[in-house]
Amino acid sequence: MKISPDALAAALARETGPDAVSADPALVDRHSVDRQVPKVLCQVFAAEEVGAVLRVCAEAGAAVLPWGGGTLMSLGNIPKRVDVVLKLDRLARLVEHDDANLTATAEAGITAAAFRNLLAERRQFLPVDPSRPTEATLGGIAAANINGPRRPLYGGMRDLVIGMKMVLATGEQVKAGGKVVKNVAGYDLAKLFIGSLGTLGVITELTFRVSPLPEVAASFVATGAPQRCLDFAKAISNSALLPSALVIAGPENNGDASRAVAWIEGFEEAVARHLRDLTAAAERAGLDPGVLRDAPHDSLWQELGGFGWGSNGILCRLTVPIETIETLVPQLTSESAPGRRAQYVCHYGTGVVWALMEPTTAGLELYGELAAVVRQYRGHSIIVSAPAALKQNLDVWGEPPTTLALMRRIKQQFDPDGILSPGRFVNRL
Ligand SMILES: Cc1cc2nc3c(=O)[nH]c(=O)nc-3n(C[C@H](O)[C@H](O)[C@H](O)COP(=O)(O)OP(=O)(O)OC[C@H]3O[C@@H](n4cnc5c(N)ncnc54)[C@H](O)[C@@H]3O)c2cc1C
Repeated sequence: MKISPDALAAALARETGPDAVSADPALVDRHSVDRQVPKVLCQVFAAEEVGAVLRVCAEAGAAVLPWGGGTLMSLGNIPKRVDVVLKLDRLARLVEHDDANLTATAEAGITAAAFRNLLAERRQFLPVDPSRPTEATLGGIAAANINGPRRPLYGGMRDLVIGMKMVLATGEQVKAGGKVVKNVAGYDLAKLFIGSLGTLGVITELTFRVSPLPEVAASFVATGAPQRCLDFAKAISNSALLPSALVIAGPENNGDASRAVAWIEGFEEAVARHLRDLTAAAERAGLDPGVLRDAPHDSLWQELGGFGWGSNGILCRLTVPIETIETLVPQLTSESAPGRRAQYVCHYGTGVVWALMEPTTAGLELYGELAAVVRQYRGHSIIVSAPAALKQNLDVWGEPPTTLALMRRIKQQFDPDGILSPGRFVNRL
């Protein structure tokens, strides 16, 4: 950094007001990323302030990490530097809800829960399901691009976002897409920013395609032998049934059992018909069926969505072709050596398997083995969270992709001085 932390704090305070900037040790400590403590915390209340903050940081050569709800700051490589944490949770206005056209625009710091409540006033919703909705912000959800269990039915973040405003490292504000579902063709910058983890710019506003709220929702739960759960999930995904999510979680009961869970929603008659057919299929597969509605249904998906969250273990995401799930999942639980065994939540419809293993050398070895298997299947794997000490010597994104040179050029174009979340992305970009 070209200036002292005090001079940086003073320069930021000139742009945002003194109350928005803090170097209080207790406060900055709570905003550490992989044990790196920021020098200054800066809160913004308007998109224009984001531009001013980034200009000050660029001039000072200060590294900036955007911070939404702070629920997924574990994702990414250990940052090379953390000078300023830029807090965005007060950038939280609903800009427009055009219910007739099923679109809604909000500032990036609004939480998923606040956005959900606003949309629900007109019986609409955004199908993202972060497990801590009262903290996770729309900007953080887009920047992290961890899609939820209902992706098979509603699409992922890149399908749901139709417009975006961002601030670049120069402080310049840019926009991509718009507020209508059908947009003019051209480079879609919003898609580039989704999943960019705060390394290309700061997202300040998002426009989404939203959906009508389903009349009713329920969970179908089938419990029994792990192989039977896999067979059941395969049969359901090959049938005419249309659950919005289909998940297998295990191992349970000392490894003897798993749960296959389907999220069913829509009109009452369609849901009832699904539940009947699922019950029959579960009984044919030799599984114990059950149905949850209302609060137990909500808590079950909170539990599944929050899998591995806040644990001290190694949480990784393995993405594989769906047809390889049945060979991958048993490898997670067959304990080849002590400590080499994972718990998992497998999203059958997207081929995403979340696996949690011990934060030990054995756990890391298991991850290495699984990552090699996943590569064989032409999938990919990342470590989403792990103790900083374990992350020290590894790239959590795995082997660099063939597009690395292109990614490097994009980073260079958007952030030539490397002030935005430096080191966090693939190959420590
Ligand atoms: C096991 C697991 C399951 C999950 N399931 C789901 C799910 O079903 N659905 C779902 O939506 N999410 C899911 N998530 C992700 C979860 O919702 C995160 O809470 C969310 O993505 C992060 O929101 P946040 O505001 O707390 O972001 P933060 O933790 O604050 O930030 C996350 C990253 O984004 C960057 N960032 C934050 N805000 C911005 C911004 N405005 N501009 C640029 N960069 C920014 C940060 O620098 C950081 O790198 C899951 C995560 C895990 C670990």
